[in-house]
Amino acid sequence: MSTHEAWSLVCRLFAGGTPVFRGALSPAEIVACATLGPAIKPTVINRTFTLCPYCQLRSGQIFGDGQGGQICQCPDCGPIPLAASDRTAVMLDESWFRSKLRMALEIESRDGVTDLGDGVWRLGEARRDPILLARNLISLCLDPSIFDRVRVSGASICVIAPVSGEARRTRLPAGIEWLPLDERFAFYGGGISFLRPGVQPGPVESEDPWTPVHGPFSADHKWVTLASWPLGPIRCTDRQAEVFRALWSFKGVEMHRDRVMQRANQEGRKPIDPFKVKERDKGKPEHEGPLHAYRELVHSRQRDGVYWMPCAAPDLASA
Ligand SMILES: [Zn+2]
Repeated sequence: MSTHEAWSLVCRLFAGGTPVFRGALSPAEIVACATLGPAIKPTVINRTFTLCPYCQLRSGQIFGDGQGGQICQCPDCGPIPLAASDRTAVMLDESWFRSKLRMALEIESRDGVTDLGDGVWRLGEARRDPILLARNLISLCLDPSIFDRVRVSGASICVIAPVSGEARRTRLPAGIEWLPLDERFAFYGGGISFLRPGVQPGPVESEDPWTPVHGPFSADHKWVTLASWPLGPIRCTDRQAEVFRALWSFKGVEMHRDRVMQRANQEGRKPIDPFKVKERDKGKPEHEGPLHAYRELVHSRQRDGVYWMPCAAPDLASA
């Protein structure tokens, strides 16, 4: 288990801000939970709805089974008996997180952390600069009045916020510096360390392989970043990437499936073929992710056998 994966899980849990069902974690993430120790708290999601333990895709309402147990009424699978373990979830211990971030930045001010509401905290001041922690850089920039509440004359404001494709495209107001949580910090020695600028290339120059270049796709079409998928960039197989690349090349124009598959150099009959999830892989994010991306991005008219990708149309494509 690399500490990199552990840190990715911390970033993802913080960005989401809600507990995640254990059943929805990948095996690597389950191991990461153990690596992270006290940073991760077990919890039980007690709600009227729960993630269906059978398909792990839909949420169903929870009912009593009349014998002291419970069932989940899944819209796809029907009534599925619920074990107590089906509702176990993990969450980030956010007070651990905030206090370790303060230590990483050597914030020693006595006033502690201030909750500014809406997923924004003032962690204190590092040297003279006020440091904000935000779950989402975009929503913070939509309400810049928060900056006025913490601004100190002659100092710039640093905002620690998770990385997303949208965050990278955001233009920050003058005097605001973004410290990408995923890149400028790391899980180290049971705490958090700050990766100082100059020690390694800045966040924009050192682009990750998943950095969106063609609309939501990375340069090689092997990664897709979608706001609707909370688990971070979606990694595609080579075959899936070929299909996305082919559809992208048609710039949103409707194409017959045979031409799409030809351009993708594939034997399959339909573009969706490489995305189909086998029964044994149902519910696993690494398999469901690409299918989710396909369903969101690819449109088709089965009757005519045509496929197109609206986000590849030139007026929408950002690159
Ligand atoms: Zn289900």
